[in-house]
Amino acid sequence: MQLFNNVNAMHEWCREQKKQGKTIGLVPTMGYLHDGHMSLVKAARQDCDIVVVSIFVNPIQFGQGEDYETYPRELEKDSALLANEKTDAIFAPGVKEMYPAGYDAYVEVQGAITGKMCGASRPGHFKGVTTVVSKLFHICQPDRAYFGQKDAQQLLIIKKMVRDLNFPLEIVRMPIVRESDGLAMSSRNVYLNAEERQQALVLNQALKTAANNIRGGERDIKKIHQQIKDMIETQPLAQIDYIEISSGENLTDLEEMRGEILLALAVKFGKTRLIDNLLVEV
Ligand code: AMP
Repeated sequence: MQLFNNVNAMHEWCREQKKQGKTIGLVPTMGYLHDGHMSLVKAARQDCDIVVVSIFVNPIQFGQGEDYETYPRELEKDSALLANEKTDAIFAPGVKEMYPAGYDAYVEVQGAITGKMCGASRPGHFKGVTTVVSKLFHICQPDRAYFGQKDAQQLLIIKKMVRDLNFPLEIVRMPIVRESDGLAMSSRNVYLNAEERQQALVLNQALKTAANNIRGGERDIKKIHQQIKDMIETQPLAQIDYIEISSGENLTDLEEMRGEILLALAVKFGKTRLIDNLLVEV
């Protein structure tokens, strides 16, 4: 397994692999890897000749007062996990390598898809994400790039960017990996104390209950919304950021419960903001 910190060296190496006719699978991450990330790596390993995993805590996708400084970082442990899965290369550039002095170029997806949910709560977040992902696509030239359904809005925005800007690659969506008690795996779960961790279980429970009610015939969007809210509010530490019920295809508001429906939420427990979601087909 090779480790690259340098953009040009990574780019040259990927170009060389492509010249040899190999397919490249890219897994963009911010590191502090868990089984959710590793499910993406395993899928890339199955599908592609070469697996590149990027580890970069991208400062421009963090807002003021967010956790950029404290975001957990553990490159050595991550490297061992990735070596275990036969990753070919890690790309772990420094901030100045990605954004040298005088850096001025940004990629932004506009419209309803970025305006709501995390886009509304974290202004500039998705612009930071689409910019870094564009750079990673140019540097690594993947045939396929793997993203988790855990970040449902991010995934749809990246798909739209790839479509609208004609990036020549396929975006592969991987399901949410959860802890055995249902909490969606996240690098940020490490911030939770025992009480917050316990109360956070309500997120998956509320989503599952709502999905069951929809499957059982409930079609009133407001009622489902209220049910999720009520359930989450049974937990005293939960501070709801948003609960959204929208189209799973493009996040537009639903006129009626029909097709692929995304139940998505962001809730803070103490200082930790967690997101979770569930897709229901009606
Ligand atoms: P992050 O390191 O949080 O930026 O995540 C990197 C990639 O891993 C993103 O595509 C995430 O959606 C994905 N990911 C994070 N957590 C999970 C999870 N629990 N299940 C599946 N994919 C995940």
